[in-house]
Amino acid sequence: MSIAPESYIVRGATGDWEIVVGLEVHAQVTSKAKLFSGASTTFGSEPNDNVSLVDAAFPGMLPVINAECVRQAVRTGLALGARINRYSRFDRKNYFYADLPQGYQISQFSDPIVGEGEVHVELANGASKAIGIERLHLEQDAGKSIHDQHPRMTLVDLNRSGVALMEIVSKPDMRTPEEAGAYLKKLRTLLRYIGSCDGNMEQGSMRADVNVSVRRPGAPFGTRCEIKNVNSVRFVMQAIEYEAQRQVDIIEAGGTIDQETRLFDPNKGETRSMRSKEDAHDYRYFPDPDLLPLEFDEDFIEAARQSLPELPDAKKARFTHEWGLAEHNAATLVGEKESADWFEQLIDELVAKTGQPIAKIAAKASNWMLSDLYGHLNKAGQNITQCPIDPARSAALLALVLDGTISGSAAKDVLEDMFATGRDPLVIVEEKGLKQVSDTGALEAMADQIIAANPTQVEQYKAGKTKVIGFLVGQVMKESRGQANPAVVNEILAKKLGSS
Ligand code: ADP
Ligand code: MG
Repeated sequence: MSIAPESYIVRGATGDWEIVVGLEVHAQVTSKAKLFSGASTTFGSEPNDNVSLVDAAFPGMLPVINAECVRQAVRTGLALGARINRYSRFDRKNYFYADLPQGYQISQFSDPIVGEGEVHVELANGASKAIGIERLHLEQDAGKSIHDQHPRMTLVDLNRSGVALMEIVSKPDMRTPEEAGAYLKKLRTLLRYIGSCDGNMEQGSMRADVNVSVRRPGAPFGTRCEIKNVNSVRFVMQAIEYEAQRQVDIIEAGGTIDQETRLFDPNKGETRSMRSKEDAHDYRYFPDPDLLPLEFDEDFIEAARQSLPELPDAKKARFTHEWGLAEHNAATLVGEKESADWFEQLIDELVAKTGQPIAKIAAKASNWMLSDLYGHLNKAGQNITQCPIDPARSAALLALVLDGTISGSAAKDVLEDMFATGRDPLVIVEEKGLKQVSDTGALEAMADQIIAANPTQVEQYKAGKTKVIGFLVGQVMKESRGQANPAVVNEILAKKLGSS
């Protein structure tokens, strides 16, 4: 029994099974203050430093909605191509836990702030797929119970209590671990583009509950298990793979799947049971009487829409269709807002320096950035935000190649020096004597000399074996100690040989 990568189907002893996945992603809203109090959301503070009386649920405290969190949720909904609900409200989700002092979480149940939408993901085989969004709602985070600091007691840290989360619920549209990974990455990219969440999974600002079931291809959905709080893309993919196999094994052995909540253990690569799944009615949801419903007018939604930057799909389309970039280059560049921004600055600088139209230089510049520059960055273990060379200097280097001042191979040497020293490319070119000789007077003299010294090749050329011009160009290059511009040499030789 195995998961066949080519079809992404679990091959069981009794036949094939299809995996069905839906994700509930919790994304912490970028905001200085919590959802219903003015307490700070700073990461890494001392335990219980960022706790107001509201977060600690002192009697008589009243929640006050943070308008910035509402605005960010609406912007996120728009970025997900989703319907923004003009009317939404908050409900209490009741349960007891030591790190939940209110005894309920304020969430949204029947009337979430955002309704259905869609996210497009690209897969390794070049296909793209739409993943449906069911809803996005706002809710508060709980505190944290700490079990390993005291031999007999559990300690409680309420710093996270009341922090604003967006819960983004997908439809059960994913069929493979790869699709789930691509969806999560795309979501993170979108959130970072619009700045509504920093997408930092290690710090817990984004985490996923992963719902997995299996079925015979085309059959109705099977019973799902929900794997809680998975905090990396890789773990999400591993958890799905393990969980699907586990369910197939159980069903094929004659068993049934219990709907339950499970945990993923990254060390073992396994999921294990945590508790049986609770249903909505277990939480006794009811409207929070302390909070008014949210009602938006069109102007508010329109203002949020106007505040969105160009989103990655649109940017990618512009890079490929208008700027002539290869599909793969465009996809890589827009994957992180920082790399797309850096590239666009590079292009601005390059256009300013060379006066060439964008469509003529952008593809070359993207190849240079992704192979040459990223080659150095990868070797140094750095990302584009740590790049020691800025777009302006990079454009200065590329401009030297484009106007023929230096050759492509000399540019690689200059880049290596720039990366290490941060020096100006022209200074390096002068110092190392890398300038190509394009001065036709000097090159014509060299060409005459080489023609005179190689009568055999010249005869062959004139007899129609025009390929020998390569040999003659090589001789001139050698004579110039590699500094001649080969394109110019070629032109000069062809002219001389053709007309004599
Ligand atoms: P709950 O809020 O109780 O977890 P929902 O119906 O809101 O339940 O679904 C939660 C998530 O589970 C959604 O992302 C949905 O896509 C996913 N899901 C629902 N049914 C299945 C299924 N049979 N297999 C896999 N995922 C599912
Ligand atoms: Mg759930």
